[in-house]
Amino acid sequence: MVNTRQKLREYLKQIKKNDQKGNKINAFLQLNPNVLKDAKRIDSKKNKGKLAGKIIGVKAAINVKGLNASCASKTLENYKSPYDATVIKKIKDEDGLIIGMTNCDEFCSGSSGETSAYKPTKNPKNLKLIPGGSSSGSAACVSANFCDMALGSDTGGSIRNPASHCGVVGIKPTYGSVSRYGLIDLSMSLDQIGPITKNVNESALLLSIISGRDENDSITQESLKLNLKEIEKIPKNITIGILDFKIQDQKIQELIDDKIKEAADKYKWKIKKIKIDHIDLAIETYYLLVYVEFFSATRRFDGRRYGKRIEEVAGPEVLRRILGGSEITKAEYLGRYYHLALKAKKLIEKEFERAFKNVDCIITPTVPRLPHKIGEKISLKDMYSYDALTIPSNLAGNCAISIPSGKINEVPVGMQIICDKFQEQKMLQIARSIEKI
Ligand code: GLN
Repeated sequence: MVNTRQKLREYLKQIKKNDQKGNKINAFLQLNPNVLKDAKRIDSKKNKGKLAGKIIGVKAAINVKGLNASCASKTLENYKSPYDATVIKKIKDEDGLIIGMTNCDEFCSGSSGETSAYKPTKNPKNLKLIPGGSSSGSAACVSANFCDMALGSDTGGSIRNPASHCGVVGIKPTYGSVSRYGLIDLSMSLDQIGPITKNVNESALLLSIISGRDENDSITQESLKLNLKEIEKIPKNITIGILDFKIQDQKIQELIDDKIKEAADKYKWKIKKIKIDHIDLAIETYYLLVYVEFFSATRRFDGRRYGKRIEEVAGPEVLRRILGGSEITKAEYLGRYYHLALKAKKLIEKEFERAFKNVDCIITPTVPRLPHKIGEKISLKDMYSYDALTIPSNLAGNCAISIPSGKINEVPVGMQIICDKFQEQKMLQIARSIEKI
């Protein structure tokens, strides 16, 4: 029987030593002041839920009643969440313990964790490097062994990208499989909450709890039927799709290619080269949609109800998106840009659907380049292209997982496995099979 309190004390010791003092990884923005009391209550329960004993960090963009969902922004620095997001309610119902709110890029806008208005998160595997973003603290707190699991949100790669850089597992579930109620949106047609954990099984467990139809999010469906025991089974007759182009960083590509080959040889899976048309338009399409939807979502931060007026306190990346979004939203441009972006999104979605008629999954590197040094100036283009391989799945609305796949110069590199919409069970089986190698 797990003793939650004992485990919690160990984690809190680690946090004190390496997050608040010493290494100052800066994974957490706020610890839950009631965590010991909550742990005691869970330990004393007779019939415990499926997450009893699991200690969980939550991205500061998700509402946890009484804690500060600041989105790592000065805009919401004094905002105390008045309610639990649906995912949090589900976690609490199963006796998961929320340890605190994790750092992230401001309003989930970034790929490095450096745009947090408070402090940049460091990569626990190499303190000089970025951990990736935007769910920087969620990946870092799992990687640094400050907790068991974390929740992140992924609009264009924000779960998978930091999971890849920090050497942990992260899932972007199918759009509509996990409720967004209580997630502060970046771009509502793309955002999904998902798990970040130390291995595939733990991600499957957390996903099985948080997914499902929710009356508060009309887009959600009940279609994820996860059978956790079956995930251990090696799936037969799998055809892996690989894209017909190579990324610039050859070392990353080779590492992933070798791993795919190893898995294919071991399990007698087939490999097939495939083409996804219009994937080269993904980054432009994504940012057009995000700018417009983010601009619209931020109109509520006008300083009159809660928080400060966003334009007065937000950092440059958030302001760029608001300004860009307001321009594109002007009547004369809307048809030209936003509606065009919606059309491109649809085309990419159709391309993936077509591809999944011939292959069971598509495997790519998660991130096309290694993480840069914290504070190093990189161009906006380079920053935006960190997500070149993750964005397509947000546009298509399908599911994707990043699992650790090896290291280059001691820096973890993740492999991304993409499956068709609501095919999480198969995706998890493939991921678990590869994880075992
Ligand atoms: N890096 C991307 C962006 O800045 C993705 C962010 C995300 O997934 N939340 O928009």
